[in-house]
Amino acid sequence: MNKANRKQDALNYHAKGRPGKIEVVPTKPTNTQRDLTLAYSPGVAEPCRAIAENVDDVYKYTAKGNLVAVISNGTAVLGLGNIGPEASKPVMEGKGLLFKIYADIDVFDLEVNAKSVDDFVNIVKALEPTFGGVNLEDISAPTCFEIERRLKAEMNIPVMHDDQHGTAIISGAALMNACEIQGKKLEEIKMVVNGAGAAAVSCTKMYLSLGVKKENIVMFDINGLLSTNRTDLDDIRKEFATTRTDIENLADAMKNADVFVGLSAGNVVTQEMLVTMAENPVVFAMANPEPEISYDLATAARTDIIMATGRSDYPNQVNNVLGFPYIFRGALDVRATAINEEMKIAAVKAIAEMAKRPVPEAVNLAYNTTNLKFGRDYIIPKPMDQRLITEVSSAVAKAAINSGVARKVITDWDAYHEELLS
Ligand code: NAP
Ligand code: MG
Repeated sequence: MNKANRKQDALNYHAKGRPGKIEVVPTKPTNTQRDLTLAYSPGVAEPCRAIAENVDDVYKYTAKGNLVAVISNGTAVLGLGNIGPEASKPVMEGKGLLFKIYADIDVFDLEVNAKSVDDFVNIVKALEPTFGGVNLEDISAPTCFEIERRLKAEMNIPVMHDDQHGTAIISGAALMNACEIQGKKLEEIKMVVNGAGAAAVSCTKMYLSLGVKKENIVMFDINGLLSTNRTDLDDIRKEFATTRTDIENLADAMKNADVFVGLSAGNVVTQEMLVTMAENPVVFAMANPEPEISYDLATAARTDIIMATGRSDYPNQVNNVLGFPYIFRGALDVRATAINEEMKIAAVKAIAEMAKRPVPEAVNLAYNTTNLKFGRDYIIPKPMDQRLITEVSSAVAKAAINSGVARKVITDWDAYHEELLS
């Protein structure tokens, strides 16, 4: 399909019929007058009284427990930048659609006029009674770090900024598996991170949790290497500044590196750079829509490479949809008060493990292949793999229980799996 057609198709898709991609659907009978007197006045007063007496009953009598807010101020939308809250709405509706189809979670998408940390935090905090969880979306760095830190501290429902942690979780799983296949130990790999924004910082923190050593990482922003000699770095970037003086640019850093992680901009890495990397290199070029180096150029430069991108038209797509629906599913199902590190690591490991097991026939069929098998071109599961909901959601729910943030305990895991698949 050519570009002009694709553009028109996308516009038509959104405009056709009722504009947008989602609607509200009643979950109770509404056919008779009696149904309506129960749904609304006077019947509705009964659950109101029950909740007023015991606020936890809000989970029993309302949609709160399965309702997630997808909330953005439109300051860092996809790769489109600061396009404002209205222009972010198609993305937030789309995220709602993914939550629903993959994990049967209902979403209200909220696009707010609030750019400062205080304004944004006050709005989201005030919404706590409505929602079972909050998915922060497409908020620019560095504001997003402080917004998330405060909301996590000040709210009692799970809050996650998916652009940071979703990416960290999926690429973390991909990194574990890629290094295993390439015969590299996480504790020993030399890593170059290009980009120092929301995604790069949270991904790098995740890799540290998984065993990568800080002294083996160098990071770049648009002005070059994060080094202790620079005077323009904020506290977050200072954390990743190196004392090394033998590196002037990205090409220097790439020499003998085991892993390249790109969360920056398209086409900033060359084939020559890849040629100088260590044996069996791992290259995650995740800038969207154009990766730091294209799949074709990278695999032509090195036959021993494992390559991942953010794109669905090449192998090893680092796609957040492998994570967020199931992370929230697990968190909601045990009524977790947070999404903590233990839950995120559990998600990483569940996703990584799944990729090593034989692929169900239905997945091969869905992707028009016959031979998906753990290896160079299949380091993480595919989005259409139905095992994700049971594997990832229960790993996250278990981690919530074990780390003490669950307000509801699951004991019959077989029954829970059946419920997830029904
Ligand atoms: P962001 O907060 O705007 O960060 C971008 C970072 O890249 C900034 O630190 C910027 O430096 C740096 N940068 C830009 N051009 C550069 C260059 N030529 N060389 C070195 N650094 C450069 O954005 P983000 O949310 O972290 O996302 C970054 C990229 O990753 C985007 O393309 C996004 O689409 C992609 N992404 C992909 C996935 C996925 O595949 N699943 C997930 C998340 C993000 P300054 O701060 O100095 O300007
Ligand atoms: Mg996003």
